[in-house]
Amino acid sequence: MLDLTTGAVLWCALTGLLFTGLWLWYDRRDHARLAALRHRATFHCIRCGNLYAAPRAEEPAPCPKCGHENTRLKF
Ligand SMILES: [Zn+2]
Repeated sequence: MLDLTTGAVLWCALTGLLFTGLWLWYDRRDHARLAALRHRATFHCIRCGNLYAAPRAEEPAPCPKCGHENTRLKF
């Protein structure tokens, strides 16, 4: 049989582990979800004037409207 102090310590430790696990799980999920958006670049089509975003690794990226290959905008 556990005394009150040991039970309270175990309860706090288990609650802390639960919230740490939830924090790590949500952090990894959000990081994976936003990683693709974070590495996107903005492109401006010089043929039709369309503004669009594409992964930065795909430079030059084809315009989704006309298919013309454009380089990313640099500021
Ligand atoms: Zn275009």
